[in-house]
Amino acid sequence: MAYIFPEKIFPSALNHYLRCPFKFKCHNDKDIKAVFIETPQSFVGSVIHSVLNDFFDIKKVPINKRKEEDLRSMVRHAWARMPKDNRSNEYWSAQERRELFGSLEQERAFGIGAIGMLSNYLRKADLSIVPLSLEDWMECDINGFKIAGRIDRIDKDSDSAISIWDYKTGKLPYKSSVEKIIEEDLQIPFYAIIASYLNPFAEKIRAGLIYLKYSKVYDIVWNKEKIKGLEKKVINVIKEAKSDTALLPKINRLCSYCEYLDVCPEKDNIPLKNKKVDEVDW
Ligand code: SF4
Repeated sequence: MAYIFPEKIFPSALNHYLRCPFKFKCHNDKDIKAVFIETPQSFVGSVIHSVLNDFFDIKKVPINKRKEEDLRSMVRHAWARMPKDNRSNEYWSAQERRELFGSLEQERAFGIGAIGMLSNYLRKADLSIVPLSLEDWMECDINGFKIAGRIDRIDKDSDSAISIWDYKTGKLPYKSSVEKIIEEDLQIPFYAIIASYLNPFAEKIRAGLIYLKYSKVYDIVWNKEKIKGLEKKVINVIKEAKSDTALLPKINRLCSYCEYLDVCPEKDNIPLKNKKVDEVDW
């Protein structure tokens, strides 16, 4: 194995550690790290992020024009210009998209679903906001560690308050509040800490997740003192991960979806997701 503790720490990596130290180890091993494989859902997620980025960019869509903006055209435009990967300047071809979605009809159905998801969210969203940043990569140093992430949107709410938003295109979380979500997912604290460092004027930070399909928002407001507390928590987890030399597997409810299942020492003890089903015989 070629495991190296990362120089720059992203929330997804630390979440791996919280869930399973062995998964964190695999994720930071260049010989084992799973390669990203595009799915119809991830393609749609990228399109939606791209459309929202353009929609809230006042250089592309002035605030007073947002209400009239044709989302269908925006989705079609972004759909046809999806890069094959982050480093590529090539777009998915029509043929490659058909293969990804299975057929033209299925591709169209996903496209209509994406338009519906965006319309649903934007119908209820505050269209007067002025973002400070959109989908920017950001980072800061905390206690000698560099933490980083790509924050979907930061809004300036007043001279002393900002909001940080992350768009979700999947299912609603199991947890019912941000307090419960952050027990095992440090993405929101990461973003709040970074945004607080980069926007020192902000005494209050609203941080939240927007589940577009359901127009559901999970949010919380933190002051600087609370952000300092979150920072301590994140530093402690980073220190623990760095000093952990065993990095043992920890079986959890997501094991059957784990991309490292094949190399996991606990593989034989993990219940398979395809349980035997006895169909009804009437
Ligand atoms: S299958 Fe489960 S225990 Fe094994 S590496 Fe993945 S998350 Fe960890």
